[in-house]
Amino acid sequence: MSHIYNLAIIGAGPAGIATAVESYLQGIRDIVLLEKDVNHNSTIRKYYKDNKRVDKDWKGQKVELDGRIYFVDGTKETTLDFFDEILDYHSVELQTHVEVQTIEKKDGYFEVFMAGKSIQAKKVVVTIGRMGKPNKPSYKIPSTIKKKIAYTLDGCSEGEKVLVVGGGDSAVEYAVDLSEKNEVAICYRRETFRRANPTNQTNIANAIMHKEVRPILGINIDGLEDDDGKVKVLFNGAEDETFDRVIYAIGGTTPSSFLAGSGIKELDGKPVHDDNYETNVAGLFVAGDITQESGGSIALGLNHGYAIACFIQGDCLVAK
Ligand SMILES: Cc1cc2nc3c(=O)[nH]c(=O)nc-3n(C[C@H](O)[C@H](O)[C@H](O)COP(=O)(O)OP(=O)(O)OC[C@H]3O[C@@H](n4cnc5c(N)ncnc54)[C@H](O)[C@@H]3O)c2cc1C
Repeated sequence: MSHIYNLAIIGAGPAGIATAVESYLQGIRDIVLLEKDVNHNSTIRKYYKDNKRVDKDWKGQKVELDGRIYFVDGTKETTLDFFDEILDYHSVELQTHVEVQTIEKKDGYFEVFMAGKSIQAKKVVVTIGRMGKPNKPSYKIPSTIKKKIAYTLDGCSEGEKVLVVGGGDSAVEYAVDLSEKNEVAICYRRETFRRANPTNQTNIANAIMHKEVRPILGINIDGLEDDDGKVKVLFNGAEDETFDRVIYAIGGTTPSSFLAGSGIKELDGKPVHDDNYETNVAGLFVAGDITQESGGSIALGLNHGYAIACFIQGDCLVAK
């Protein structure tokens, strides 16, 4: 039998890093953190625009931090530096470029399978978030304009006429940011941006007032068409309009097949777990955005990590 880690954590986002570091601080050793991307925090790297303001109380949710990781408001860059530092400072083995495919419970331990290899661990925490598969519209996207449809700001160039779809914080931040160098409209099915936090509500109100962002509110989209290589948006209740690019910022999805493949039950779009974030499979935990239907945050993920670390600390994992 090869080496058995005390703890394996799948996904090195805020919840995964917090679970690793808080567990280390509780005295647990021999922890491995498995990340599919080339570096930790791929959601922050891919979906946050450069210099984005990072709010601790995201979406207006006030979260008191329970654990020992002192996270404060900052920017995308300071937040990534912060996670770099806490990983450097605590002895956690981070393996990048390893996508976990499934987790299998064996006799007294777990086997964690990746392409071409597997590792063993006594306990496993799944913190893979929901942004691996961003939410997509229900209507079909014509293949000829797929390159003009995006879920992040990547590939967006200056001077494009852009439609941002969504009404939460991410959509509002994308629209306001793009409006500095682009003609921007924002389409949201509701009449107001009440889901966004107060700062973002003020920012979008100002951008609309100064005609930097054009609101298309209380309107749904019926479909998209190719208009000579551009995207014609078929609005339900407003005139159709053509854009250079359409960006959907409508959240992410539950990784159901991953959960099912690992034996984790799902109810109402969320993995089933108890107050300690332990799933129906004893010793297998979930934390972070994956536990939320929508509306997770960095601070919430940090608290989940702390709770799990406290729970498993007494369980024969303490350093010798
Ligand atoms: C545009 C945008 C702006 C936001 N702004 C804020 C903000 O200002 N403040 C705030 O608190 N929150 C903000 N959020 C929300 C915040 O980013 C999330 O709540 C947080 O990242 C969730 O952490 P997590 O660890 O649960 O998941 P994630 O951060 O999604 O991390 C999951 C990690 O798991 C990895 N992974 C996925 N599948 C596998 C696999 N099979 N094997 C191995 N690794 C895998 C991923 O690559 C990723 O690194 C924002 C979100 C978005 C999209």
